[in-house]
Amino acid sequence: MTRFAPSPTGWLHLGHAAHMLYVWGIADLLRGKVLLRVEDHDRQRCRARFEEALLVDMEWLGFRAANRLAAASSSYRQSDAEAAYEEAAETLRRDHRVYRCRCSRRQLARSAEVSASGERVYPGTCRGAQHAADAPHGLRVAWAADAPPEEFADGLLGPQCQRPERQCGDLLIKDRFGNWTYQFAVTVDDWRHGVNVVVRGSDLLASTGRQIRLGRMLGRDVPPVFFHHPLASDSGGVKLSKKQRATPIRELREAGMAPAEVLGAAARAVGLQAEIRNVEPSEVGSLIEAAHPGLLARAGYGDVARVPERGE
Ligand code: GLU
Repeated sequence: MTRFAPSPTGWLHLGHAAHMLYVWGIADLLRGKVLLRVEDHDRQRCRARFEEALLVDMEWLGFRAANRLAAASSSYRQSDAEAAYEEAAETLRRDHRVYRCRCSRRQLARSAEVSASGERVYPGTCRGAQHAADAPHGLRVAWAADAPPEEFADGLLGPQCQRPERQCGDLLIKDRFGNWTYQFAVTVDDWRHGVNVVVRGSDLLASTGRQIRLGRMLGRDVPPVFFHHPLASDSGGVKLSKKQRATPIRELREAGMAPAEVLGAAARAVGLQAEIRNVEPSEVGSLIEAAHPGLLARAGYGDVARVPERGE
């Protein structure tokens, strides 16, 4: 079981379509299914109109999810899953693995070192500080000093070894404004939704070790298998995720492009097959297979078709 987990902070663009090719393509190859999860943990930046639009774009492109997203309340929408996050945080509290943190981003920008992965390393300022619960605070997980490195085999990039304590330091799981963080919400969700294959862009590779470690602290002993795919870029080589404003899929639709043409452009943007003009969703598995020979021969993908035990 894998998932497509967009954040409704803007319109879907060609980079998202390229990502969808990988998600549905790898799910096809592994005979798994794709769940849709709306990652709106950051309430300030997410909008209902972007959620509605992404459903329309997915439908138009021909990508079908295995679950339905209920309009009113859904266990597949992060803003509706407060109880699941609170329960997971409680597990960490009970095990004395979290502490209150009052540091602001600005303070960290001044004091924290930058790691090789380009992140601020939290220096542990609030560890042991015992801040009162009624003053604004975030929550951090205290990594164990003797934790071994996180080693995993990425399905596309091969063997990886990460040390979260050196990359980012103690992990923020809730910010000072009350938002659960991406790292925490995604780890809780992948587990509770029965996700055992994660397909995502290589810009998220550095997050994986900390998610595996956090998952283990929450009780998940077998982590998902991860596939980090190349990022889509425009014809000038500029990454679409970094570009200020990649053209939204809805604008391509309104300009008269057919879904297969948009998927063809998405495939080209991610280097799947330069000469491709039109792609049908039913063909995405073979595109991935052609671009990554030997993918299926690699071992250890687990039982990817397992249906989640909880959910809708
Ligand atoms: N919600 C994240 C995004 O839109 C995806 C996170 C993930 O795949 O782990 O970038």
